[in-house]
Amino acid sequence: ALVLGIESSCDETAVALVDSERHIVAQRIASQDEDHAPFGGVVPEIAARAHAERLAPMIAGVLEDAGIALSECDAIAATAGPGLIGGVMVGLVSAKALAMATDTPLIAINHLEGHALSPRLADESIAFPYALLLVSGGHCQILRVDGVGEYRRLATTIDDALGEAFDKTAKILGLGFPGGPAVERAALEGDARAVPLPRPMVGSGEPHFSFAGLKSAVLRAHESGQYETADIAASFQQAAVDCVTDRLRIALAEMDDVDTLVVAGGVAANATVRAALEQLAVDHDMRFAAPPPKLCTDNAAMIAWAGIERLGQSDPLDISARPRWPLDPEAEPVRGAGV
Ligand code: ATP
Ligand code: MG
Ligand code: FE
Repeated sequence: ALVLGIESSCDETAVALVDSERHIVAQRIASQDEDHAPFGGVVPEIAARAHAERLAPMIAGVLEDAGIALSECDAIAATAGPGLIGGVMVGLVSAKALAMATDTPLIAINHLEGHALSPRLADESIAFPYALLLVSGGHCQILRVDGVGEYRRLATTIDDALGEAFDKTAKILGLGFPGGPAVERAALEGDARAVPLPRPMVGSGEPHFSFAGLKSAVLRAHESGQYETADIAASFQQAAVDCVTDRLRIALAEMDDVDTLVVAGGVAANATVRAALEQLAVDHDMRFAAPPPKLCTDNAAMIAWAGIERLGQSDPLDISARPRWPLDPEAEPVRGAGV
């Protein structure tokens, strides 16, 4: 089977064709980094307009690259949320039009499910259930994944997402946008023990996250003028990693029967994060998996793959774009936390 995937929930416009043998037959990604860089963050209106201008020619381009007609696709999968609503609407409405014109099933995909299932696109041996650390620009969660659509959230952040903390740290340190890769690069030249920074929530019996205090401490360290930028970046990255591994230890204690630890989302592209999680998995006698970095940050191959996993499903043409869409709708609200 062959699925066309469309992603437009944040600031990458992406289109991909993926088959059930896990081949990414063709894909294109247009990053809007240059459009948003002057503002130091994603501007929703600019993002929506950029998606609207770029998406249609990219769909045509991907089909051309693959030498495939739209009518040969078994489904059209598009991100239907969560994300910046203008962008999500551009992708979802485009998918609806294509589905209607070719009488092909439309599959509305939760962007977070795209991230959550991406390790299975990269590696066919990743089987359910697995423990998932989902760390992206808007989310920081630990989930138990029992199957497609079967997610139990064990932890979330009470303030910032981990990717957001990287982005804010980059902004404070003047490292530019997007922040994650910039902080990782700067940290290579720094000493992770140079700057004393807090590890928020570490020691708490609940596995939740908090990064706002860490960000404030980075700001104070920067403003003190006592430290090198690279040392702050490295110390921040290490503090973040220490928080993540401590929180995961608590959550994994509740998942005794799970033998695979998986990380996904943009921050999963970070080599220090990956190495720490791999070690954590070894300590817990678990298998560790992380998709290749290009499948961690936003892309359409993971959306097409989620469509493959959901093949047979067909969503109505009046389905709505959703700015919020939790993977685990049953999860209890945590004080101050988003979904
Ligand atoms: P969400 O998936 O929650 O809706 P998003 O789609 O904006 O949010 P992703 O594209 O999945 O987020 O991830 C982007 C985030 O990942 C950004 O915050 C970025 O700084 C971070 N990131 C990307 N690469 C790295 C890296 N090498 N190290 C640390 N963080 C990174
Ligand atoms: Mg981006
Ligand atoms: Fe994402």
